[in-house]
Amino acid sequence: MCGIVGYIGKNNVKDVLINGLKSLEYRGYDSSGIALSDGKNIQIIKSIGRIKNLEDKINNEKLINAYKGIAHTRWATHGGANEINAHPHKVGKITLVHNGIIENMDYLKTKLEKQGYKFKSQTDSEIIAALIDSHLSDNTLKAINEATKEIIGSYALGIISELDKDCLYATRKDSPLLLGKGNEENFFASDITAINKYTNKFILLDEKEIAVLTEKDIKIYNDNLKEITQNIQKISIDKNSNSKLGYDHYMLKEIMEEPIVLEKTLKSYLENIDKLPDLSKYKQIHIVACGSALYAGMIGKFLFEKYANISCTCEVASEYRYKKNIYDQKTLVILISQSGETADTIAAMRQAKKENIDTLAIVNVKTSTIAREADIKLFIEAGPEIAVATTKAYILQVAMISLLAFKLAKPKLKDPKKIIDEFSKTPKIIKNILDKKETYLNIAKQIYQNENLFFIGRGLDYAISLEGSLKLKEISYIHSEAYQAGELKHGTISLVHEGMPIIAIITDDNLKDKTIANLREVEARGAKTFVICKDNLKEKETDITVPNTSDFTISLEIVPVLQLIAYEVAKLRNCDIDKPKNLAKSVTVE
Ligand code: GLU
Repeated sequence: MCGIVGYIGKNNVKDVLINGLKSLEYRGYDSSGIALSDGKNIQIIKSIGRIKNLEDKINNEKLINAYKGIAHTRWATHGGANEINAHPHKVGKITLVHNGIIENMDYLKTKLEKQGYKFKSQTDSEIIAALIDSHLSDNTLKAINEATKEIIGSYALGIISELDKDCLYATRKDSPLLLGKGNEENFFASDITAINKYTNKFILLDEKEIAVLTEKDIKIYNDNLKEITQNIQKISIDKNSNSKLGYDHYMLKEIMEEPIVLEKTLKSYLENIDKLPDLSKYKQIHIVACGSALYAGMIGKFLFEKYANISCTCEVASEYRYKKNIYDQKTLVILISQSGETADTIAAMRQAKKENIDTLAIVNVKTSTIAREADIKLFIEAGPEIAVATTKAYILQVAMISLLAFKLAKPKLKDPKKIIDEFSKTPKIIKNILDKKETYLNIAKQIYQNENLFFIGRGLDYAISLEGSLKLKEISYIHSEAYQAGELKHGTISLVHEGMPIIAIITDDNLKDKTIANLREVEARGAKTFVICKDNLKEKETDITVPNTSDFTISLEIVPVLQLIAYEVAKLRNCDIDKPKNLAKSVTVE
């Protein structure tokens, strides 16, 4: 959720840490802090709000001559967003930054208090610092190993120990952390983007491994404290991903990249659909995901059931992991996660694997936990997504699940070639759709002053509406709900009032009249209605249309329209579009 960076070497430590934090800021950002060390002294500086606040504060301080340091941007789980709770936390000889949640915090706290430890913050993280300190005699590695064995929960930790002048420590369990190997300098970070400016050599730290970083060297130990061999990977990522390239917001830049990334992701599969896994041996599918990825899954469910005739459920990962799931050996569990680090989705995957159920993951980040652990993986080629609200990664998730459904349905389809052709044309179609900025701005102007709004649709259109509604509420803070068009009158219609915007999505030729009838019902109660539909279903001059293609590709056309409406509305409301309040990009806590 939050971001961690650590650095040891001859470069300016403060600069490396602040640059790293800035590129991690999208992950969570209620407060931040750094700890610098010159081997003797530890200097901790913290601030609430944006990294910019921290930077300004640091620039007003006289800094020690540090050669190592750790830094953190926080997304609070325990205790408010204030300076005391901000990381790093220092207890005794241990200073640390932590990402994750400690579930047995109360137990550990009571135990440590009995030993005389006193706590300044409300965080679970300060307790880990005390716990490690309580195990410390003359060997920090051993103390970290013993302390982390007592923790129930998730953690990525960056640690400075006053026992050791020349090194930093890092370890993780159920939270992301990777190491960067430089020339006479070494790094750790929650995400490649924090350090890819300095190195392209990375080591993916496995669960419970502990890394010891010196300026010259990295050593990694397993949880029996046996040194293990390192697998250094060269990974290059698009440097443009860290720049807005002239757009006002990352979100807009990332929406505009959709045609390119779609083409890149789809190309090889469209040339040879056999590159996609063969799912014909399965009799049922569970799609498990959170947020937008869940809504991409809803589109998949619709296509799998309607065209491949396979039973498919689509479930919220945080529920799935705690409920009774009915499997048989012909069940496939599909996980969808942009970051591949979504804690609930990881837990759902591990639960299915424990039952010997095959898992297939659709992920963006190739180095992530889900990418490493799932049986079958399909990568979307979105590149890094910086705006917190997902756009290009979401559309690629939809494309990938739609392709999977298409491949499974292919033997049953009348004209599969036509569908392949439609998929190939989608990037160009989307490019044209993205060009109609004025149209979306025009709708946005008519709705941005409202505080409540509905999206309605039936079947596939309902699945698409869910994401349209989520995007709008995430970034504009308008309260918005997506409803099955026919369901609205079973209670919720009581909320409809004069002037309330209701946006209908209509792409199903057979259900068009039904949805239009539902629109008439709400219009009769004063609602201001808008229609987004296929061009052959257009009724009014003001209807927004997209080219008429099949169910397999139509969502890919509607999605950018909804994203741009949300974007324009948020812009008119002067919202912080790339960093909406309270949200974090990759939800690595439960
Ligand atoms: N649980 C810790 C806290 O509340 C870490 C949160 C985070 O991952 O940013 O401070």
